[in-house]
Amino acid sequence: MSETPYPYDAPASQALFDRASVVTPGGVNSPVRAFRAVGGTPRFMVSGQGPYLTDADGREYVDLVCSWGPMILGHSHPEVIAAVREAVARGTSFGTPGQGEVELAEEIVARVEPVEQVRLVSSGTEATMSAIRLARGFTRRSKVIKFAGCYHGHVDSLLAAAGSGVATFALPDTPGVTGAQAGDTIVLPYNDLEAVQEAFHRHPGEIACVITEASPGNMGVVPPDSGFNQGLKDACGKNGALFISDEVMTGFRTSRAGWYGVEGVKPDLLTFGKVMGGGFPAAAFGGRADVMAHLAPAGPVYQAGTLSGNPVATAAGLAQLRLLDDAAYVKVDAVSEQIRTLVSEALSKEGVAHRVQTASNMFSVFFTDRQVRTYEDAKRQESYRFTAFFHSLLANGVYLPPSSFESWFVSTAHDERAIQKIADALPAAARAAAEATAE
Ligand code: PLP
Repeated sequence: MSETPYPYDAPASQALFDRASVVTPGGVNSPVRAFRAVGGTPRFMVSGQGPYLTDADGREYVDLVCSWGPMILGHSHPEVIAAVREAVARGTSFGTPGQGEVELAEEIVARVEPVEQVRLVSSGTEATMSAIRLARGFTRRSKVIKFAGCYHGHVDSLLAAAGSGVATFALPDTPGVTGAQAGDTIVLPYNDLEAVQEAFHRHPGEIACVITEASPGNMGVVPPDSGFNQGLKDACGKNGALFISDEVMTGFRTSRAGWYGVEGVKPDLLTFGKVMGGGFPAAAFGGRADVMAHLAPAGPVYQAGTLSGNPVATAAGLAQLRLLDDAAYVKVDAVSEQIRTLVSEALSKEGVAHRVQTASNMFSVFFTDRQVRTYEDAKRQESYRFTAFFHSLLANGVYLPPSSFESWFVSTAHDERAIQKIADALPAAARAAAEATAE
């Protein structure tokens, strides 16, 4: 049994975690699930219904993670499940083109105006990796600008967030990524247009693209300053580089047309995932037709996938997107606002310095009294308060992302009962945050 300073009240999850730790590195298939940032036993979930998850010990939680974004209609939405059942009954993979792929691509193109053509893939990582390759193939240049604190999946060249000062060539963030793989990546501070201008100035004719999260949610929620994305687009246009907006998290969540729908800045390429898969592995990248035409088999830039456009995944994604009408976004936005207000009131009542930062219905809580505009700002928060806050909420049936550097996600299914459960759990959690001390 693992040692934990937190109340040990999840014996079935603990037993599964112990078994998992024998056969899987760290006991999980994606690191943040392991609760390393907050400690304690990760909860093994067995079912999800609407806004609730139920763990292996039979405890119910209001889910504020929503599978890290995809479950915008809540869990087990009857119409999504029906579409999946129907698709499964027809077969699970053909390795040929199919009608579902065409319809999903048409839905994406119809929603997001800058997307003239789209290629389906199976994960957000594949989408960003392929978009970068395409940008390099199209421009015949090698360097890529990314921003510290922006996560674009575990693409080798993008796992570089360190590097001090302006236009520093990145060192790899992880063993296994070579200097050569990260060496063409230029990591800049987020929200710093001057740094971008300077990088273009120092590397004339070398930069293939700038990739940014449309509105970052992977250092907590840090929205772009007004004019930042437009500035990136202008700098790219002026210097012959492509502007890639990573909408894996924001796409079809922050509005019908994702962050593009909120801000209206037109990227050359966009990447999608999460919501568009309806809880299945489906993702995409798309954009200008003249750029996409460079992709195989139309053009020379190779990209492929055995399960790309999988019929079950596309059926789930299509069903979910078709249910996401204007009323659905009004509802998710309202739920988000209600929860944000409750959280802020509870923390203020206990005198806990905090900022709730918002991008449409995405939000997160920073334990600091200063605005967070960059990754460096985000790292200055009092994360130990989040740990106490998280565990108190967990003990009272509210499931937050197990890290203070993640967005919280809500759904159309978060009803009054779910919100009341959060409201009931917040006073104790705010007290725990107030009483927490740094180790
Ligand atoms: N891009 C962004 C903005 C993300 O938030 C993520 C995942 O969280 C990815 C890319 C990678 O997506 P996936 O985990 O599906 O590979």
